[in-house]
Amino acid sequence: AAKAKGEGGVEKYVRAMGQSRLERLDLIDDLRSAIAGGEINVVYQPIIAVETGRIVGAEALARWSRDGVPIPPDVFITAAEDAGLIVDLGDHVLRRVAADVATLRSHIDGPFLMTVNISARQLREATFVDSVRSAIAAMHGVTLVLEITERQGIDLDPIVLSRMEAICAAGARLAVDDFGVGFSSISYLHDLPVHYIKADAALAQDIAVDERARALLRSVIAMGRTLGLGVVIEGIESDDQLAALGNDTGELTAQGYLMYRPMVLDRLAATIAVDRDVNAQAPQDHRWRG
Ligand code: C2E
Ligand code: MG
Ligand code: MG
Ligand code: MG
Repeated sequence: AAKAKGEGGVEKYVRAMGQSRLERLDLIDDLRSAIAGGEINVVYQPIIAVETGRIVGAEALARWSRDGVPIPPDVFITAAEDAGLIVDLGDHVLRRVAADVATLRSHIDGPFLMTVNISARQLREATFVDSVRSAIAAMHGVTLVLEITERQGIDLDPIVLSRMEAICAAGARLAVDDFGVGFSSISYLHDLPVHYIKADAALAQDIAVDERARALLRSVIAMGRTLGLGVVIEGIESDDQLAALGNDTGELTAQGYLMYRPMVLDRLAATIAVDRDVNAQAPQDHRWRG
């Protein structure tokens, strides 16, 4: 909405941070050296199969602490985009994730999705496809899913489209992030090589208390199914929300604080190990429902 009023991302985060112009330039300087110095960290939020509760993947989320103070991703990602740093930041995150997955390998048996947020700007880089290939090569069988946000509308430029095709040919998969709250029409689902939609947390927010909200989310799920897309429901915070997804949840996946918060790599490895053990002992047990 800020964009629609002609207010750029920079102004938005300056406002959010209550910062002056000088402080903002300072922030960008610090961000630049943090990226160059490898100080951007990555945490992981498990994604579960709703029917079984089992971990089927994880989303990689960038983290940055500036002088010990965590800066919200919405702030530093916007800053990076506005300051022309997002391609470097994105490359760094992708390399870090690939290296992390390599160390996770021994904990993972069977299919696993690792999703990474990318900025549309990265799809304009000629070198991006090679970065994706290297990442996939290091990830040995873990599926790399690149999340593209539809918030600003999806870029349907032929260059971007051909880049998407090349990424998929290389073995990566594409997800539309923040689905259902952006400016795009849904017809691009037909035009793009998309495999997953991630229903924005806003769509799940009221499903436990509002029948229309529930009906809306369920039709998004049905649409995804009809189109043969994987669907991830974001922002599940309560048992009631999880229950409101209904009983017909085959293939449906979800993320949210109810199940797991984003965590550091070591915790993710331990969490996956516990998940595997619990399920080996009692495969019918659903840890969140009932
Ligand atoms: P996103 O990709 O939609 O990621 C989901 C956000 O929801 C994350 O916020 C996650 O921590 C949060 N979340 C997960 N479960 C719940 C829940 O149950 N309730 C609530 N209220 N929130 C939940 P986070 O980590 O602050 O990231 C914010 C956004 O920053 C991301 O939204 C994504 O758009 C962007 N982002 C993060 N890392 C990267 C990155 O490496 N590259 C790019 N381009 N963008 C990134
Ligand atoms: Mg995402
Ligand atoms: Mg999302
Ligand atoms: Mg989001």
